[in-house]
Amino acid sequence: MGMIIDGKAISQAVKDEVRAEVAELETKFGRKPCLCVIIVGENPASQVYVRNKVKAAEYTGMGSRLIALPAEVSEEELLAQIAALNEDAGVDGILVQLPLPKHIDEEKVIDAISPAKDVDGFHASNVAGLWLGKDCIVPCTPAGIMRLIDSTGVDLCGKTAVVVGRSNIVGKPVAKLLLDRNATMTIAHSRTADLGAVTRQADVLVVAVGKAGLVTGDMVKPGAVVIDVGMNRDSAGRLCGDVDFTSCADVAGWITPVPGGVGPMTIAMLMKNTIRCYLQRIQ
Ligand code: NDP
Repeated sequence: MGMIIDGKAISQAVKDEVRAEVAELETKFGRKPCLCVIIVGENPASQVYVRNKVKAAEYTGMGSRLIALPAEVSEEELLAQIAALNEDAGVDGILVQLPLPKHIDEEKVIDAISPAKDVDGFHASNVAGLWLGKDCIVPCTPAGIMRLIDSTGVDLCGKTAVVVGRSNIVGKPVAKLLLDRNATMTIAHSRTADLGAVTRQADVLVVAVGKAGLVTGDMVKPGAVVIDVGMNRDSAGRLCGDVDFTSCADVAGWITPVPGGVGPMTIAMLMKNTIRCYLQRIQ
């Protein structure tokens, strides 16, 4: 059986790293980094994510603000709130929890956040920065995935990497990060003809689809690093990934569990990104 990559332990180490940095920065500059999270409406999953983000910020000792707006808030009001936070010298990072209610244009909202405070790394100028190889804010989940892969000690240079899923928030950015580390990249998606034939080539396999049990043991190359980004509910309501853990763990060299893999890393990397935004602004 492959080794389990303990995302919970690794994310805890990252949060402890941030906690030490926050204390040091406060001493040095006389102000703590501050993350502001905006939630619109009462989507239960979003409420859990937001609560966990604020809790993590509190753990690290950084400042945090939670702005909860009603589902009926107008796009103009939300944009005005963001504009005020962009100008607020005491706020280093702004995160708007997605998805937003249908009457609000998400792209407009993301583009309204100052790129310097865009802790999610979703703003077009940060996305362009990533693809142009510039120093920029990298989205949290892909950054966390890279940290999990690095924890295995596998050198990515020259390896074959396959990412299943091509979303703007996970699939595409993680593919670029793997490419930057000199892996040979393939991105598979819903139109990929023979998914198993593609995934079986992968020394590193990242699955970000949103379909429970999509990847089974027969689709994994023996010894591969398997990263399961999926967050689904099984028939009993339990959280599960896109990868069939039992059959894949038998074949993989390393594998992330769900829960306890990528999920906690996303939040830990959000803390890192907040520090980064703070440092860019204060120096
Ligand atoms: P999207 O729905 O935006 O993208 C899903 C991707 O999967 C698409 O590119 C789609 O292809 C592809 N796809 C769909 N069906 C298949 C299939 N049968 N075979 C191969 N590819 C397929 O999802 P996200 O990237 O936002 O999220 C993916 C999963 O990761 C979700 O479960 C989400 O909850 C989870 N997630 C977890 C995070 C964490 O912190 N742990 C953070 C973000 C997401 P096509 O483009 O052709 O439609």
